[in-house]
Amino acid sequence: MARDRDPQCKQCRREGEKLFLKGSRCLTEKCAIERRNYPPGHHGRGRIRQSEYLIQLREKQRARRYYGVLEKQFRRYYEKASRQPGITGENLLRLLELRLDNVVTRLGFAASRRQGRQLVRHGHIMVNGKRVDIPSYQCRPDDVITIKPNSGAEQTVRGATEIGASVAPWLQADHESLSGKVLKAPDRTEIDTPVREQLIVELYSK
Ligand code: SF4
Repeated sequence: MARDRDPQCKQCRREGEKLFLKGSRCLTEKCAIERRNYPPGHHGRGRIRQSEYLIQLREKQRARRYYGVLEKQFRRYYEKASRQPGITGENLLRLLELRLDNVVTRLGFAASRRQGRQLVRHGHIMVNGKRVDIPSYQCRPDDVITIKPNSGAEQTVRGATEIGASVAPWLQADHESLSGKVLKAPDRTEIDTPVREQLIVELYSK
C-alpha cells in the first residue's frame, strides 16, 4: 500500500507549522520547526511570491500531509465529499477524521498518525471484535475500537497513552482497558486540524 515517504520534518518545514507527524519528538526542542522554521531546500529562505493558487495549494498539501494521504486518494475523498449533502469542505474533513488510523491516533493509542497507520496495517487493531488492517477504513458511530488480545503492540500503545494527548470529544477512550468508541461523526468545531478547508474546495473546483 502506497504511503507518503517524504521526510516528516521537511513536510512541516514546507508548510511552516507543526503537523505533529513524529509523536513525542514534536513536543521537544529537537523539533525541526523550533530549530529551522523556514522551508527546506536551497532557496528556503528566499522570498516567495504568494499567489492565490499557491495559498490554496499549500492548504491542500497541509491537509494531505497532516492525515498522511497521497494525492490520488485525497482527490477521491474530495469527490466523495462533494457528492454528500452539506458543506463540501466540512464533509472532506469528516471523512479524513473517520479514517481508522486517525481514530486510533485521536483515541491516544498512537503517538502519531504514522504510528496509528502502522498499528492498523500490522493487524493490532480490532473494530467491533474483528481485526481490521486497512488504515483508510471509515469508522462509523458506535464502532468499538480495541487492541487485539495478546498483541505485541500493547507496550507501544500504553506508551502512546502516556504522552497525555487529549481524546477528541466525539470519541470515548478507556486507556486502562485500551478500548475506545466512536460516539458520533465529528462536527467542524470538534476538528482541530490546522486547515482552512474552503481553500481546498476553491482549488479543486477550478
Ligand atoms: Fe513536524 Fe514533529 Fe518534525 Fe516538529 S518534530 S518538524 S512537529 S514532524
